[in-house]
Amino acid sequence: MRDSYCSLCEDCPLGRHDFLETVIQMKEFVDQIRDNYWSHCCAAEPEFDVQQFRKSLDWFLKHTECPGCKAGRGLADCPIRKCARERHVEHCYQCAELEQCDKFDVLIGQFPDLKNLLRRRQLKFWAREYHKKQNP
Ligand code: SF4
Ligand code: SF4
Repeated sequence: MRDSYCSLCEDCPLGRHDFLETVIQMKEFVDQIRDNYWSHCCAAEPEFDVQQFRKSLDWFLKHTECPGCKAGRGLADCPIRKCARERHVEHCYQCAELEQCDKFDVLIGQFPDLKNLLRRRQLKFWAREYHKKQNP
């Protein structure tokens, strides 16, 4: 399984079996459709582009091999990865500084809910740790 500090890789659908099945099925449908099939009715919506859609489906199928950020992908100078490694933290939800951490600014535009998701994971993590201590 892909692994990252911020949890994005764990949640990434690239390479997930059900996701790929859906993309392949969609590609089979779309490959049978002429590029200009809808041009008579979607002329006022130039952003709708069958060729581009086809390319996007191919992109998903070409990027199934991503090993995840802990294995070498991700942002080259990611401040989250750097910080987590320095602190010897496996996942940011395990970090006591998560709530006030400002390293997530690089992701906030694309993933505005990420911090909340991590906080929820943190509460579950703490609960698991608590139960482990109670039942060693
Ligand atoms: S490189 Fe940084 S932002 Fe990307 S998945 Fe890894 S920790 Fe997250
Ligand atoms: S301070 Fe904690 S939550 Fe923030 S990036 Fe570093 S390890 Fe992750």
